[in-house]
Amino acid sequence: MSITTDARELQGEIARFRHELHQEPEIGLNLPRTQEKVLKALDGLPFEITLGKSTTSVTAVLRGSAPHASATKPAVLLRADMDGLPVQERTGARFSSKIDGAMHACGHDLHTAMLAGAATLLAERRDQLAGDVVLMFQPGEEGFDGAGHMIREGVLEAPGAGLMPPMGCTSFPPWSRMAGSAPNQG
Ligand SMILES: [Zn+2]
Repeated sequence: MSITTDARELQGEIARFRHELHQEPEIGLNLPRTQEKVLKALDGLPFEITLGKSTTSVTAVLRGSAPHASATKPAVLLRADMDGLPVQERTGARFSSKIDGAMHACGHDLHTAMLAGAATLLAERRDQLAGDVVLMFQPGEEGFDGAGHMIREGVLEAPGAGLMPPMGCTSFPPWSRMAGSAPNQG
């Protein structure tokens, strides 16, 4: 089946996961319940998992098993931020935040759920991947230097050699950006 068909099949599951995250937002660098949910979503998939020491980050590495011509395997890093904001939710959504004074008002619940979806799709295609994929589930994006914590703890060295800059890096030329958007059907 095509990756698009598989992605469509996952849509309901990804939306459910996003709602779960949305109902229980956590703020800052310490997101234990969010980390737990991410680990549950990755459970059973062939990722090498490393948990943050100074934060509740999750680094998950998928070793591609397709043969590659060069001696150095390429690696790609995909990142999702996981933290919410100190905002009171008044949207009336059926999956509204259950935490007083905290809300996923910046879409990090979407980012996290989408990256978990990508984890499933990539894991199913592991034998077609000539390099490694690093998933970076990052806490503390909203002004807490979460990325800095993860870099100092070695996220960029996680695959070994050959890591490309993280997606969304502003030094990328516009044609190489891979982020996308679509009407929210969650
Ligand atoms: Zn944000």
